[in-house]
Amino acid sequence: QVVLKQVSKAFQNQSVVKGLDLVIPDGSFTVLVGPSGCGKSTTLRMIAGLEEATGGEILIGEQSVNHVPPGKRDVAMVFQNYALYPTMSVYDNIAYGLRNRGYSKKDCQVLVAEIAGVVGLSDYLKRKPSQLSGGQRQRVALARAMVKKPEVFLMDEPLSNLDAKLRNQMRVELTSLHKQLGSTFIYVTHDQVEAMTMGDQIVVMNEGRIMQVAAPMELYQEPENLFVAQFIGSPA
Ligand code: ATP
Ligand code: MG
Repeated sequence: QVVLKQVSKAFQNQSVVKGLDLVIPDGSFTVLVGPSGCGKSTTLRMIAGLEEATGGEILIGEQSVNHVPPGKRDVAMVFQNYALYPTMSVYDNIAYGLRNRGYSKKDCQVLVAEIAGVVGLSDYLKRKPSQLSGGQRQRVALARAMVKKPEVFLMDEPLSNLDAKLRNQMRVELTSLHKQLGSTFIYVTHDQVEAMTMGDQIVVMNEGRIMQVAAPMELYQEPENLFVAQFIGSPA
């Protein structure tokens, strides 16, 4: 599990994340949702180790990771803008992280083939990113994260560049991928529909604070405050 204890973040003197307390259970699909600027990406980046918390403690598993560098945390992050290597093939993009970790050529081939099958890219391994659709590129980014077999996947608005149809399709695919892998997904979006359809634990944030943590149905039926009710659009 991932645990945040009074985690906060200030940039210069401006406090943007204000004392978050949160437990993200193993195997959950936890969605951080809230309006633009509420601190979702900053929170995710702190879990990834890309941003240092100014206060509080983050635990991954039993381990306090405040001073653990990003590469040594058992997490993989999928970004909104994919950040694929344009001159490398799909295969090399997926295998990149493995080569760095000293896997043999043979081991790379086996792992990449397995993951490519899972995300439906087996026929595309020789192509360059520029020869793929947006959804296929997004799958390469996912595959690249998956190949490291992390316990925790961190995703920051990974579908926001896709058109509505593809976005719906990828939502379904990500949900089934989560079931298949059984790992923990922490997923950031500002879209409440996406949050409610994909997550099993929803964390509603506003202005650097947590407004409510609940399952989708509970959030909808029993919003704890006006902000949650209005943001989720529940009848209360
Ligand atoms: P969005 O939905 O628009 O992506 P968000 O919830 O992800 O928003 P964050 O990116 O976490 O929001 O930003 C939270 C606040 O912190 C914002 O007010 C932003 O301007 C500020 N902020 C983020 N990164 C920095 C930085 N490197 N330096 C200064 N301020 C920052
Ligand atoms: Mg963001």
